[in-house]
Amino acid sequence: MRINQPALSLAVAALLATFTLTTPAAEPKGHAAHHPAHWGYSGEQGANHWGSMEPGFALCKNGKEQSPIDIKMAGSGKPSAIDFGYAQSGAEVINNGHTIQVNVANGGSIKLDGTDYTLLQFHFHTPSEEKIGGKAYPLVAHLVHKSAAGQLAVVAVLFEVGDENQALKPVFSALPAKEGEATKLTSGFNASAILPAYKGHYKFMGSLTTPPCSEGVRWQVMKQRVELSKQQLDAFRKLFPMNARPVQPLNGRKVEES
Ligand SMILES: [Zn+2]
Repeated sequence: MRINQPALSLAVAALLATFTLTTPAAEPKGHAAHHPAHWGYSGEQGANHWGSMEPGFALCKNGKEQSPIDIKMAGSGKPSAIDFGYAQSGAEVINNGHTIQVNVANGGSIKLDGTDYTLLQFHFHTPSEEKIGGKAYPLVAHLVHKSAAGQLAVVAVLFEVGDENQALKPVFSALPAKEGEATKLTSGFNASAILPAYKGHYKFMGSLTTPPCSEGVRWQVMKQRVELSKQQLDAFRKLFPMNARPVQPLNGRKVEES
């Protein structure tokens, strides 16, 4: 599925914005229209209001292929395997005000149906945005990738509470507490360390789960869960008690599974 250029540039702009934007400092009043609306997860800033906050967010309200979804039924078609080619990379952990995000410099890529998608960053939501048969998990990691043509592909890894996640130890032991703060991971990061052993997954078309909710995003939700400790989950929830968009209607979309 192709996505149109305006949606694409919007999506890329949104990603870049999450990479680089810090809190807008005190600006003269009246210039506020030049900044993206201040969206969040509760009250007037909550997900039910995103689509009306500004024209650029209209897809959050009017889109027909929105994420996340509740995966209730799957099975039409057989998605080909995800060919993971992640690599050790320089990495920076940032608090962007909406989540903790790990930006990677040269983190490798995945191959989907013959196309390479380069890993840009991964970030977390609690509880998991995706549901499986109506059930949400305590945390999900979204690994965000982009092809040379600019299409986005996300791999979602669901977490259950259990043993401490060793791979995420350097990330979760020093979470930047304030919006705009960043910490470099001195030993870098290899994203393959947070993948489950079993690579079966659900596949469907969807959107960004944050404004501007751009569509045409390829989603892969891994079936096998990985673990993190209650302390690690609590450390994240202390900063972001709830940062998950509610599930969106399928509108006839097919979910394939491998
Ligand atoms: Zn996400």
